[in-house]
Amino acid sequence: MNCLITFLITLITFTNAIFIPFNNSPNDQIEITNKSITSISSINDTNSLINAAAKQPFPEWLKSFTGLNKWPGINPPYIPLDFIDFNKIPNIPLRPAGTCPVIRTQCSFDCFKCVSHDDVYTCPKLSQTFDDGPSKFTLNLLKNLKSKSTFFTLGLNVVKYPEIYNEIKSRGHLLGSHTWSHKFLPSLTNEEIIAQFEWSIWAMNATGNHLPKWYRPPYGGIDDRVRSIARMFGMQAVLWDHDSFDWQMESSPPQRTKKQILNDINRWKDQGRGIILEHDVYKSTTDLGIEINKIISSDQMTVAQCVDGVDYVKVF
Ligand SMILES: [Zn+2]
Repeated sequence: MNCLITFLITLITFTNAIFIPFNNSPNDQIEITNKSITSISSINDTNSLINAAAKQPFPEWLKSFTGLNKWPGINPPYIPLDFIDFNKIPNIPLRPAGTCPVIRTQCSFDCFKCVSHDDVYTCPKLSQTFDDGPSKFTLNLLKNLKSKSTFFTLGLNVVKYPEIYNEIKSRGHLLGSHTWSHKFLPSLTNEEIIAQFEWSIWAMNATGNHLPKWYRPPYGGIDDRVRSIARMFGMQAVLWDHDSFDWQMESSPPQRTKKQILNDINRWKDQGRGIILEHDVYKSTTDLGIEINKIISSDQMTVAQCVDGVDYVKVF
């Protein structure tokens, strides 16, 4: 319970938005749709009601607060929170993954590469970030990383691999939220978005004794409705300016080769800055992450360092 009453919400909402240039192909929407299928397949070993794979004990404070006694599955229940003010959430129509508004009336990163004033999307030093873990492949990546990186974790995987989560933490890497179960947030109701954030935060708190400051929306799916809810948790969005599309090595047939990705990495290295999106859920992508780490060298930053920000909202 202590985690709930210690949230300090001091965020001021501005409406200014910055558009950054497209650096992806016109087929973004197709790629995003494909990715949703790929990523969900990595977490579908839990049913929608109970998370049987969870190893992290369900804490007493969460039992008394939620009335539950187990971690949820891919559809976590909405638990009301007294610091969430629904009046601060803009009324933006829901939209399914892979669809975009016809005109740019919303600051959407997945549709328009639009970022808001407090979104982090680049870094003074070229730096790797890893999404969708922890996984059984994360450990080997950790053993070989020579720099401090940022890992955006799924709550479902945090409670499934709590010891790997804490290994990431003990090696000095930064942990952020990638939501509870990788849903496309703009397609969810306000309550469902809150559930995705709150359960992810509770998993991180129960496992790592901290509350995340940084989150990455799955598929880059974000608009001002998602941002307004995340800000009430004290969190800021982290996007990217360099997408490795490493997961496309796992598509069938593969849509991307290691050579193509390494060519991009060397080009980005010449530019000398930016945030690279990678994934620590496959052997192929974690092996490649190790190679990329050797190419870029250890001179990298966590996303908190990129913007001279704090690591966590609170550490217990
Ligand atoms: Zn993801």
